[in-house]
Amino acid sequence: MTNQSSVFLPFTKPNIDEATIAAVGDVLRSGWITTGPKCAEFEKLLSAYFGGRPVRCFANGTATMEVALRVAGIGPGDEVITTPISWVSTANVILAVGATPVFVDVDPLTRNLDLNLVEAAITPLTKAIMPVYLSGLPVDIDRLYQIAHHYHLRVIEDAAQALGSMWRGDPIGSSRNTPSDLVSFSFQANKNLTTIEGGCLVMSTEEEAILAQKLRLQGVTRSGFDQMEVDVLGGKSNLTDVNAVIGIHQMQQLANVANQRKELTKHYFSCFEKTHLVRNGLELPIPDFIHSNWHMFQVVLPIEKLKRLGMSRSTIMQKLKDMQIGTGVHYPLITQFKLYKELGYLAKDTPVAQRIGESILTLPLFPLMSNTDVERVVIALDTALLEV
Ligand SMILES: *Cc1c(COP(=O)(O)O)cnc(C)c1O
Repeated sequence: MTNQSSVFLPFTKPNIDEATIAAVGDVLRSGWITTGPKCAEFEKLLSAYFGGRPVRCFANGTATMEVALRVAGIGPGDEVITTPISWVSTANVILAVGATPVFVDVDPLTRNLDLNLVEAAITPLTKAIMPVYLSGLPVDIDRLYQIAHHYHLRVIEDAAQALGSMWRGDPIGSSRNTPSDLVSFSFQANKNLTTIEGGCLVMSTEEEAILAQKLRLQGVTRSGFDQMEVDVLGGKSNLTDVNAVIGIHQMQQLANVANQRKELTKHYFSCFEKTHLVRNGLELPIPDFIHSNWHMFQVVLPIEKLKRLGMSRSTIMQKLKDMQIGTGVHYPLITQFKLYKELGYLAKDTPVAQRIGESILTLPLFPLMSNTDVERVVIALDTALLEV
């Protein structure tokens, strides 16, 4: 054992350079620390990145999605079709605006909303589809918007993990070559671009952007020196300049981060090829190097085999931890949470998602990792699954 292998490897780690830390200091000393010029500058950079579309920033991805739903006019009595394999926030915001989440099963290979099953879930109450791009792999965006247009539905893309993911050669959120409605990103600490906490919404019209801006700050519109109007119930979810300046610096690293993630992922695939793991039932992600930003590298464990041996995902996570490898679960099935069970949702209604929810495992992947780290992870997983 080398010395290096005794160092704990987390499943992810933010990459904040010294220039960013210095820039944060500058904002803190500037006399203006909440939403101001840095937030506006960050929004301008993001808008340019998304092909000139209007962008507004928020305090977090959850608030961003909730504002998106409100901008789309979704509320009580409306149904929103989504996936049960996501961070619970995706479904929580649908409940928060008074609407009803309708969970559709996922595709076993992409682990994303199965678009083949969406049409059967559409009712006269359906107002929107809210897909999630798990680990940065988008759904078939063309197909998604075909369905949405055919049934006159809004689309709120939960692209929390998909900054830098691509469709038809453009970043997700850009509408140059693809239809695109409301697209929500998160800048939480684990995401490919972070502002510690934060998010942004990409929209289609200035009217939507003005409404989004009001909704993030009490519904207030200011004019002149002393004029103020409130014509809609807004909340408080603005992004501070301290957070925004981190985002500005992170934007400069985006292309680099994407490359590093891609290279590490390629190494994962080549290391897995040298093992028997896939033959023994381990499911790897789709090796997509065109669309995905490789926000995470997730495997699906052979859960039935594990169960027969009296083991579970947590047994494997413990074994990996003993070998100094951190892992994560993204995500447990939303409909098996007490709140959702009490609302009448059943895990067995989405059987593919149910299986993935109990057997998906996130392996370490972040730009500061080395190829040697990747090798360590694959060897450790091979060891942990030895009996399987
Ligand atoms: C991170 C994440 C969110 C929520 O973003 P926050 O910034 O943590 O509020 C929502 N959906 C998905 C898929 C996410 O990964």
